[in-house]
Amino acid sequence: ADKVIAIDGPAGSGKSSISKAVARRLGYGYLDTGAAYRALAWHVLERGADTADESAVLAAADDFPLRQGLDADDRRVFVGDAEVTDAIRDPRVSAAVSGVARVLDVRARVNDAFRRMVAEAAFPAVVVEGRDITTVVAPDAPVRILLTASPEVRAARRAGELSEQDVAAVADAIRRRDGADSAVVDFLTAAEGVEVVDSSDLDFDQTIDAVLAVIDR
Ligand code: C5P
Repeated sequence: ADKVIAIDGPAGSGKSSISKAVARRLGYGYLDTGAAYRALAWHVLERGADTADESAVLAAADDFPLRQGLDADDRRVFVGDAEVTDAIRDPRVSAAVSGVARVLDVRARVNDAFRRMVAEAAFPAVVVEGRDITTVVAPDAPVRILLTASPEVRAARRAGELSEQDVAAVADAIRRRDGADSAVVDFLTAAEGVEVVDSSDLDFDQTIDAVLAVIDR
């Protein structure tokens, strides 16, 4: 594919489910770059390496047999032969991932892999979703969107049906991860030319429509 729809946003903004739905609707590929960083964090933990040790993280990144498809209906992720689709959503991985994603040499390697996957994709276009897609991975993409929502709305969406206390805990975890992540890449303000879609007051279908409207423009 030579066309990228770039979508960035913070944790819990709904960008994964929205990006997936948009890709399905348009018959495009879908790349969840957060899943790749999560799989790398899983891989670092699995090797018993310290996620705070940059050279250990880099060594893990150099020996990282990630397998991730671009089909929005097949979200399986593998590291070598191990399927990690569910494991990478574990709170243990969520807590470790920012430390891994902080290493700039790691980001450079991972970004090369993303660009290669897009270039080789058998789709007319790929919706690529993450934190630095609009600014670093695909700054020349014809469509670049920052999907945001208020911290309260994001925490409530992530927490789903949990109790109020759990919502507060989820809000804390999101705040911590956003704080660590935004020190590395700024995904809280839109870069020049990036369209902001704020989903705080939109339901799922309205958010999809808002994103499709930007793509159609
Ligand atoms: O999108 P998700 O919340 O699954 O991303 C997991 C983590 O991966 C983020 O918290 C961030 O540390 C990292 N990430 C990143 N750059 C991206 C996508 C994700 O640093 N483009």
